[in-house]
Amino acid sequence: MEEPLESISTSCVIAGGGPAGMMCGYLLARAGLDVTVLEKHADFLRDFRGDTVHPSTLEIMHELGLLEDFLKLPHTEIRTGNLDIGDRHFTIGDFSRLPTVCKFIALMPQWDFLDFLAGRARKMPNFHLLMETQAKDLIQEDARICGLKVSGKGGEYEIRAALTIAADGRHSILRDKSGLPLRDLGSPFDALWLRLPVMPGDPADLIGKVKNGQIFVMIYRSDYWQCAYLIPKGGFDTIQREGLERFRARLKDIAGFAAGRVEDAIRDFDQVKLLTVTVNRLEQWARPGFLCIGDAAHAMSPVGGVGINLAIQDAVATANILAPALRQGTPSLEMLNKVQARRAFPTKVIQAFQVMAQKQLLAPTLASAQTPEAPLFIKALDRWPWLRLFPARFIGMGPRPEHVRLHNR
Ligand SMILES: Cc1cc2nc3c(=O)[nH]c(=O)nc-3n(C[C@H](O)[C@H](O)[C@H](O)COP(=O)(O)OP(=O)(O)OC[C@H]3O[C@@H](n4cnc5c(N)ncnc54)[C@H](O)[C@@H]3O)c2cc1C
Repeated sequence: MEEPLESISTSCVIAGGGPAGMMCGYLLARAGLDVTVLEKHADFLRDFRGDTVHPSTLEIMHELGLLEDFLKLPHTEIRTGNLDIGDRHFTIGDFSRLPTVCKFIALMPQWDFLDFLAGRARKMPNFHLLMETQAKDLIQEDARICGLKVSGKGGEYEIRAALTIAADGRHSILRDKSGLPLRDLGSPFDALWLRLPVMPGDPADLIGKVKNGQIFVMIYRSDYWQCAYLIPKGGFDTIQREGLERFRARLKDIAGFAAGRVEDAIRDFDQVKLLTVTVNRLEQWARPGFLCIGDAAHAMSPVGGVGINLAIQDAVATANILAPALRQGTPSLEMLNKVQARRAFPTKVIQAFQVMAQKQLLAPTLASAQTPEAPLFIKALDRWPWLRLFPARFIGMGPRPEHVRLHNR
């Protein structure tokens, strides 16, 4: 006979200890609620996970009184965005003009960010972080989601909750189990992530490079360059078939001042990580008792590197809107829909921009062997520095920045 499942109860259970889940858990616990966050991995150590902490996220850290300690962690500060088209250099974004406390993007390994947040959250007795615990399924009773079936160190059991949040990322199994309809917006390219060494005298910046039908992004990380090489969708097999020598030749052609480092740095395709780019969003983010946030609700294109920021903003909006209702008991579907009403607009605006950039700029560039002429708006941004505030604001803060409205309890 099977052992009966053990069951624990909490006010809110959150599947996924990424930026969305950890921030949401922290905020709800800070508001006095009992929260359980599940993370299927044993730690937060995963490479190439996106390490950009945007000015609006830093603003949230400031509002929470965490910024000073947070910035003591090793990080790099990026103040401008730059684009090299062929041999011409353009400065196209300037974060130093933003109306935020931090006028830069902080580059910090995502695990440091998550470890920091987890450390602060764990100080609250009503916050529970269960590592190596995987959400397997939703518990559904009378068309309402009442918690999760999970598998953890102690075996399989149930966590019952007034609210279940799926923050389990772009491959969310809970979203799939919920049956909420997902709309795929398509993406014509994938990204190959790799590292190149940093040398003395390198610019500490964010640099995009466009040349001979190739697109390369270099993100300065003080002891290495985190680089993304864009390829047409599904093109990694072809690149591997063509061989490492040919790939290294392509990298040398586009890597500019770092070209001489490619040979030693890239010795195997194992050092190259494929990101299959997906852009999608849920048509409906909630069901009774259940809400999706972050990548689980909307996978973003890497254009602009805004995925983490949007996930954090979702978490703040969720806590602002739902903490008062959770204190009363179980939030209604109407309350859950308010989160979507608040966050769907910035998601749609940014995805529309990403899809437009993918179709109008990236796909034609990758399909041609030529170096394109710089578009007029790029020339204008480079020529008139005050214009650079607009892209910096769009990327660094997003269309509807959130602020912490809940008081510490
Ligand atoms: C290669 C790569 C590079 C990126 N670069 C950038 C960048 O530079 N800037 C940027 O802003 N964004 C970047 N992104 C996107 C960014 O990482 C995501 O948008 C962001 O992390 C979304 O946060 P999230 O909390 O919604 O989901 P995730 O960060 O995906 O977190 C989900 C968490 O849930 C856990 N999980 C999954 N399933 C379960 C389960 N069943 N039970 C328990 N736990 C589960 C996962 O282990 C994970 O820790 C990048 C993404 C990738 C893949």
